[in-house]
Amino acid sequence: AMASLPKTMKGVVIEKTGGTEVLQYKTDLPVPEPKEGEVLVKNEFIGVNYIDTYFRTGLYPAPSFPYILGREGSGTIAATGPNPPHSLAPGTRVAWMGASAYAEYTAVDAAFCIAIPDSISLRDAAAAILQGLTALTLIREAHYVSPGDWVLVHAAAGGVGLWLCQLLRAAGARTIATASTAEKRELARRHGAEVLLEYHGGEEPGAAEAFAKEVVRIADGKGVVAVFDGVGKATFDASLASLRSKGTMVSFGNASGPVPPVAIARLSPKNLRLMRPTLFSYLTTREEFEKYANELWDFMTKGKMDANVHDTYPLQDVARAHQDLEGRKTTGKLLLQP
Ligand code: NDP
Repeated sequence: AMASLPKTMKGVVIEKTGGTEVLQYKTDLPVPEPKEGEVLVKNEFIGVNYIDTYFRTGLYPAPSFPYILGREGSGTIAATGPNPPHSLAPGTRVAWMGASAYAEYTAVDAAFCIAIPDSISLRDAAAAILQGLTALTLIREAHYVSPGDWVLVHAAAGGVGLWLCQLLRAAGARTIATASTAEKRELARRHGAEVLLEYHGGEEPGAAEAFAKEVVRIADGKGVVAVFDGVGKATFDASLASLRSKGTMVSFGNASGPVPPVAIARLSPKNLRLMRPTLFSYLTTREEFEKYANELWDFMTKGKMDANVHDTYPLQDVARAHQDLEGRKTTGKLLLQP
């Protein structure tokens, strides 16, 4: 079944961790061979996620070197391994999550590869799958959002952020959101956030409390029932202070750096819950992945949710994509095209 496939392909590898200079564009990488339970996807669009920068810098350890970055893509099935477990025949348009996406071809675990409805483009599917599923699992599993819930979302104009705004609006929640510029705040507002705030003033004493005082005032004088915080270090204190009694702190990322160790006694005055969830641990089975992915396709088609592609970069311009993302120059989704 591999007869018509090339032997080599374009892709981006890292051989060590560091700045964007460690991203190496190659044209002679071996095309992977799909093993039992895998399908070979010819990637049309590759999603850039903040997590890719963590693997590049070494904040998260790469399993081995050389390592191909990237956790998601969309394209068509080029070949299957022995005994493909699902109806993923060659030629099927698919979106997938896994590893080694920054390449023309990826051997993907078939359990986390799903057909795309005809009405959704390959571009939108790649833009949606990882960040959309992150937002969806966060509002279902980390804190089940109910109509009328006041919640706080940081970096609301980002990739995950715009999905959170849209899904929270659909869930009937009332969203207070932060973003760093007036344009970003306006974008988050158009996608469903109700009240937009600037970030608090950083490390100065009292800044977190002053921010939280405003959140509490807006949220019925009590504070929010949940915070969805992908910014991490810079916002953690303000987020905790913004919660009402028995609220839930969902810390799901480190865009500003990892949250330092927390003394759990800090949770006692308000009996808070603290969560540190990750998408790949919510979607561990085919059933979980399919359920949420199909729900996401429905939100995009029937709910008219927007995939918000900021830009599509040629794969060889991957360094610029990372610089733009880390430099806070982007909104929504960054894609690469091989
Ligand atoms: P984004 O598109 O949200 O980009 C990051 C944004 O964070 C920036 O645009 C910026 O928005 C904001 N930000 C705040 N402080 C900083 C800083 N010091 N440096 C850089 N950016 C900063 O990225 P993603 O949607 O890919 O990811 C968002 C977060 O969610 C990340 O922390 C990521 O790791 C996490 N994540 C976690 C997952 C999980 O399973 N736990 C899955 C997917 C994502 P602004 O300018 O408005 O501040």
